[in-house]
Amino acid sequence: MAAILPPAMLGILGGGQLGSMFTVAAKTMGYRVTVLDPDASAPAARFADVHLCAPYNDPDALKTLGETCSAVTTEFENVNAEAMRALAERTRVSPSGDCVAIAQDRIVEKGWINKAGLPTAPYLAIESVEEIQVDLTPYLPGILKTARLGYDGKGQVRVQTADEARAAYADLGGQACVLEKMLDLQLEVSAIVTRTSPAQVAVFPVAENLHTGGILDVSIVPARIAPELAAQAQDMAKKLAEALDYVGVLAVEFFVLADDTLVVNEIAPRPHNSGHYTLDACLTDQFQQQVRAMCDLLPGRTDLLSPAVMVNLLGDSWREDGGEPNWAVLAEAPNVHLHLYGKQQARTGRKMGHYTVLSASADAALEQAEALKDTL
Ligand code: ADP
Ligand code: MG
Repeated sequence: MAAILPPAMLGILGGGQLGSMFTVAAKTMGYRVTVLDPDASAPAARFADVHLCAPYNDPDALKTLGETCSAVTTEFENVNAEAMRALAERTRVSPSGDCVAIAQDRIVEKGWINKAGLPTAPYLAIESVEEIQVDLTPYLPGILKTARLGYDGKGQVRVQTADEARAAYADLGGQACVLEKMLDLQLEVSAIVTRTSPAQVAVFPVAENLHTGGILDVSIVPARIAPELAAQAQDMAKKLAEALDYVGVLAVEFFVLADDTLVVNEIAPRPHNSGHYTLDACLTDQFQQQVRAMCDLLPGRTDLLSPAVMVNLLGDSWREDGGEPNWAVLAEAPNVHLHLYGKQQARTGRKMGHYTVLSASADAALEQAEALKDTL
């Protein structure tokens, strides 16, 4: 396929922070960008050439995307996969609607992960009430997760007993779920892979991820695991991209168990919060990779230029009266990069921005990042 070159118009479904950082990357590389997002104040609208302010499945908006864009991508998995397949008849779409559909459904997703020869936590797929009437002991204590539309720990219930699991399933309204065994995690890591064709694959350095209340809080790079284990996570991410015949940026979340083995948790068919460090610490960042993949350019080099720690800024850090955090603290730290997404309203749990601390070692960066958290 011929490469798509600037100043071609690129399209993206979704204009949140991921769409916004994609737009900046594409514009910087000389492309033009059209964003589809129903929110008039979507972060990406600050930078896009064209903002189609309409629902994601709006036929006219999709037609415009298809007719005016040389290639289209997405910033999130919960778009209509069918709309993406239809769009693919008019223009180049990556990742494919099929891959997005896989990542939309935990049952389908886990099936694919296992089919690629990679381990998941023991799980039970529950698509109807009969399917939860079996012996649940292999999955207990466990987490019941809705198959669809869960994120940042939403749609999840921790259960100790079979009775609790069945009650929780009923509470979730009997929608399709997975019951997953609660594993004893040593830590969590992620690997983000960019693939355009079998010969063109690049993986970023592995990030170690700390969550608070089900939401990513901190990413530490390089992850504090053995280099062989990090290499294994990168290989597994590549293997998964291969199995899916994936084109684009694919994030793979892993659990590291107590015995130093890796289990795949979930995938995201897009750049990932745990890859934001690449903006400041890698030769190519994950949004440039998204542009490169959709335009059929070779993936950029993923070398780590400096150990880095990324800290998410949630709405919780804003004062109740809407007052801003104490940014002066960051202004005085020359090795810290602040990224704010331009969201108008700071709500609890809402991702408002992040900062990345670059230092000689991950430990030094982490220490400084934690100290900054307390003074913001
Ligand atoms: P989300 O889509 O909300 O990110 P995840 O499946 O990644 O959902 O779960 C969120 C977090 O909950 C994980 O990052 C991990 O900390 C914890 N978690 C999820 N599943 C398990 C499990 N099987 N065992 C232990 N912890 C888990
Ligand atoms: Mg997750």
